[in-house]
Amino acid sequence: MKPLINRLRGVERDILQAPERSNPPYYEPQGNEIQVFEAAYRKRLPVMLKGPTGCGKTRFLEYMAWRLNRPLVTVACHEDLTSADLVGRFLLEGEQTVWQDGPLTRAVKAGAICYLDEIVEARTDTTVVIHPLTDHRRRLPLEKKGQEIEAHEDFMLVISYNPGYQTVLKDLKPSTKQRFIGIQFDFPNEALELRILGNEVPDLNPELARKLVAVGQRARALKDHGLEEATSTRALVYAANMMAVGLPPVEACRVAMVNPVTDDLELAEALMEIVRAHF
Ligand code: ADP
Repeated sequence: MKPLINRLRGVERDILQAPERSNPPYYEPQGNEIQVFEAAYRKRLPVMLKGPTGCGKTRFLEYMAWRLNRPLVTVACHEDLTSADLVGRFLLEGEQTVWQDGPLTRAVKAGAICYLDEIVEARTDTTVVIHPLTDHRRRLPLEKKGQEIEAHEDFMLVISYNPGYQTVLKDLKPSTKQRFIGIQFDFPNEALELRILGNEVPDLNPELARKLVAVGQRARALKDHGLEEATSTRALVYAANMMAVGLPPVEACRVAMVNPVTDDLELAEALMEIVRAHF
């Protein structure tokens, strides 16, 4: 068996390949986000994708990585994620300690796009690490190694940020936010969402797709009545998939769009009423 470090290096090479040219990710633009992102990339400015969960931010970035022909390194941030998880650490291998680059360091070296998804979730020391990368310095300190590396000229940093989640205790500092170009996302309008469903789930009956999109639009209005998260395009795609393989529409909506988003029986019933009014 290969030593650990070689195996990890092998993984690294695989991760850092640019997306397959012949297979563009499917993305429907909502506005001028493609032009804005390209302009930011030309100037190597870091970008913040703002908007609710499941509205297309990740898909957009997959598409942009393909369009710009750059590898994409995605890190789903969580509350235990530390700067060492991003940057790297010394690992024990037999008698030796070997340095293992983290995903951010690999992206910085290889000239990839690094996507830190929901960075506010991570420990605050992670934001300290990205600061010198977001300004003219474009450098990444590897503190434990006593080194600082210069970013590859094609490297770009992208973060996502869901304004609905933020509390006073958990938010990015204004001094961090203002280092990014901010692109606002929201759920697509009815016509666009119908097109997305048609592409994502081509075997769904168009009449069912139309009704499903109408349910989604109505359900989003309940957001202000206590639902933590609005019904997302992702949830509609899930429901469409369940219907396409034969689950009755009302059940498909229950399991894909109602059960996962609320534990409150009254709210669930209010959502189900909307569903039943359409199917
Ligand atoms: P986010 O990153 O905002 O949480 P995603 O990018 O994962 O959301 O989007 C969820 C799903 O919704 C995608 O997998 C895709 O099926 C669909 N989707 C949403 N918006 C679009 C869009 N503009 N074009 C194509 N698919 C979309």
